[in-house]
Amino acid sequence: MIWNEKMETLSRAEMQELQSERLRKLVAYVHERVPFYQRQFAEAGITPADIQDIRDLTKLPFTRKSDLRDHYPFGLFAVPREEVIRVHASSGTTGKPTVVGYTRDDLQVWAEVCARCLALSGAKPGDWFQNAYGYGLFTGGLGMHYGAEYMGVGVIPVSGGNTARQIMILQDFQPDIMACTPSYALTLADRLLEAGIDPSSLRVRSFILGAEPWTEEMRQELEAKLQVDAVNIYGLSEIIGPGVSNECVEAKDGAHIMEDHFLPEVVDPETGEPLPEGQVGELVFTTLTKQALPLIRYRTGDLASLTYEPCSCGRTLARMSRVVGRVDDMIIVRGVNVFPSQVEAALLTVEHVAPHYAIVLTREDHLDRMEVQAEVTPEFFNRVGAEVFGRHPFEAVGEIQQLQERVRYTLREALGLNVAVTLLPPGQAPRSEGGKLRRVIDKRVLK
Ligand SMILES: [Zn+2]
Repeated sequence: MIWNEKMETLSRAEMQELQSERLRKLVAYVHERVPFYQRQFAEAGITPADIQDIRDLTKLPFTRKSDLRDHYPFGLFAVPREEVIRVHASSGTTGKPTVVGYTRDDLQVWAEVCARCLALSGAKPGDWFQNAYGYGLFTGGLGMHYGAEYMGVGVIPVSGGNTARQIMILQDFQPDIMACTPSYALTLADRLLEAGIDPSSLRVRSFILGAEPWTEEMRQELEAKLQVDAVNIYGLSEIIGPGVSNECVEAKDGAHIMEDHFLPEVVDPETGEPLPEGQVGELVFTTLTKQALPLIRYRTGDLASLTYEPCSCGRTLARMSRVVGRVDDMIIVRGVNVFPSQVEAALLTVEHVAPHYAIVLTREDHLDRMEVQAEVTPEFFNRVGAEVFGRHPFEAVGEIQQLQERVRYTLREALGLNVAVTLLPPGQAPRSEGGKLRRVIDKRVLK
């Protein structure tokens, strides 16, 4: 079902008109209420009158995570303390968290967009929902909780962790829908299978997965193991929490953005220039209706692309691709933006290659050179590789060269770049040892 038939199927012209009207109001609202935006607009030499429709969006300055940090905890709030009836916070990896606030109307919008996400994931009123997102300062648990209640879905607020209890509830309460992180869904699937529980004995038919990046390969694995639909939900606390976008269960081809509330853009992470439809860049959102913490052109740091193509589910809402990486991970090779996750995704499509790799950047004659060192699978290595990497017989060398050529071709198609490829025996590429894995070795001399 489509939860909000009217808003989710507007024509492009109707949507743009609505967005323009809301943008005009928003700009006047923040200019009146938030000193930070008064200064930002003055520095950019604009007044609210300069913003007439969404084509004027690029005149507006960006807002960054550091702006929220610099105004910790409530400096960017647009309403007095008494009107804030909920706060959440995201755990900062360093120092203070990012604090977000909601008015009563904000909470209503949040419930509405989360209800849309549940419907996108296949839920309908009368269903039961096992919510394994964390409850607390994290937005995941309570965001989905109120969306489900608003929809008329029965919530089991189990929160995260305690796998034995999650499985007991799946078996005894028989919910129709479940939400958790993709990595936790994998843990659950494995524990179910270990315990000899047949997934078809469970009523659950959809898993709503988010809060961390995952891949198409993981979807296939989860859907096969759990015998469910696995769909991606996207959100971030600065924009509202979960509910910014969600894949439809019908197409599973990009997440529909609630663009009547969150106006999306994709910009070049380096220059800030808007990028055309389909091109990967940094996702930027403007909150069109938020009251407590409205944000103008917020740089998410997430890398994805947008499409406005109609979807087979009947919704006209724009769709965003999966998040392919973070801006901080981006490398620039001969003027082309490259993300390690793109390399990983490309390698995963080549048979006999394992998703363990390193990227080595060097500079020769003032030109960047990129080399991808990728491991072959143990099966491939045992069949032909062991001899190649050891004794180099002719036939096997041929097979290795063919594989190398296939990887080179795949990477060129995926990245739009010629790269050198070296195949490694299993176990030779860097592995995560708890900390952040360094896959990129940049040996270029800084200019
Ligand atoms: Zn769709």
